[in-house]
Amino acid sequence: MIPSIPWSKAHGVAFLSCPEDTDTTSPLRIATTEPHNEFLMALIESETGRRVIPELYTPLEIRNWYSSNGNAAESILEKMQSEKTAGKTSNWESEPVIELVDTILETASIQRISDIHFESYESYLSVRFRKDGLLVPHLDLPSWLKESVILRLKVLANLDISEKRMPLDGRFRYRTPSVDCSIRISTLPTRHGEKAVLRLLHSLKNNEGLEFLGMPFEMTVKIQRLFDKPQGIFFVTGPTGSGKTSTLYAGLRRVIQRQVNVTTIEDPIEYELSGANQVQVNEKAGLFFTNALRSVLRQDPDVIFVGEIRDKETASVALQAAQTGHLVVSTLHTNDAVSAITRLKDLGISPTLIADAVIGILAQRLLRKSCSICGGKKEGCKDCNFTGYSGRFAIFELLEASPKLNELILNSSTNAEILKEIPFLKLRDHAELAVKNKETSKEELERVLG
Ligand SMILES: [Zn+2]
Repeated sequence: MIPSIPWSKAHGVAFLSCPEDTDTTSPLRIATTEPHNEFLMALIESETGRRVIPELYTPLEIRNWYSSNGNAAESILEKMQSEKTAGKTSNWESEPVIELVDTILETASIQRISDIHFESYESYLSVRFRKDGLLVPHLDLPSWLKESVILRLKVLANLDISEKRMPLDGRFRYRTPSVDCSIRISTLPTRHGEKAVLRLLHSLKNNEGLEFLGMPFEMTVKIQRLFDKPQGIFFVTGPTGSGKTSTLYAGLRRVIQRQVNVTTIEDPIEYELSGANQVQVNEKAGLFFTNALRSVLRQDPDVIFVGEIRDKETASVALQAAQTGHLVVSTLHTNDAVSAITRLKDLGISPTLIADAVIGILAQRLLRKSCSICGGKKEGCKDCNFTGYSGRFAIFELLEASPKLNELILNSSTNAEILKEIPFLKLRDHAELAVKNKETSKEELERVLG
């Protein structure tokens, strides 16, 4: 059997060498979270007829690998097109339609898409994903598939498939070995057929702890200790899409195991975090970060995740809470760890409060990983779509609270002074080490940190 992308997803692995290679003497390199799982390796070897060389990757890296390689739904679609030409038709109950819808849902789950729009136009059904707030085209399906795809979605959500003239809504759970997602669906009759919008609420896997983020071991231990503290505020900083939320969720998962009251205030809620009370900010209804935080504080919380701190009021309520027996974690949009202190000062927070409440600041970025097949050559290879890169990895810098740091904050020291006085490995140091180890390129380092 020739392994395909959906097949490897079902096993939670990614192929690093070309799976279509029919030369059975060449080994198959795979990325997996469980390189020591002999049963899984034996299974893959027996299914592919090739010797498997497993390499350890984090779940995040494997997800990123899928998001940058190939569109599995397109290949199913091609197969259906040729079957149709051969006179074979597909309806919502037929295997290819089920597989197509599954693949779209699975791709969206793996890429942590928040919404999927299925829009009926005269000659096609457009499938778009909302990612990082933007609605981007994923796939256009031919009009002969419009009805069966929408019907398949309705069947999944147990909706009345005979009702096409009225809006409907429902929900279902989508679960595979690699994803677990609860999905809300709503349909709307439009001029050229029904439109369906799916809102995805992702669950985190048990193995997505801090130790799987790919940070140096000592840093993992330090961050675990910060999450174990009874009070104080911990910030993760970086631009949008630098993986801040994944890091904080990984830490919160650890906290939840301690049987404490964990409450999050988010906009939007991106993942389902079982064991936590998640509050969605609703500005239209008058629920902002600030008043939500005040209400949460009346609910006897131990740990509070404030999605983002943008204004003075939220910042001061959060920092005061962190001084009075609560562990608060939050994010700031700054480029490095030290700038978070400046940012808080700019928001009007007193140096005393900052020095007293802040227990640590982690800055992070995602870098593209050099392709392991061609070694990241400029011209690339077919395994990396001729880009020289495959997957991404995070780099971090951690500024920990210390008496020295407090002194510098209280003396209104500049960033340069703090950097001079407190030695710690910077983002650039980690990135340069990665370049030295050939994990990424100098160009990529400059693109992200330049
Ligand atoms: Zn390559």
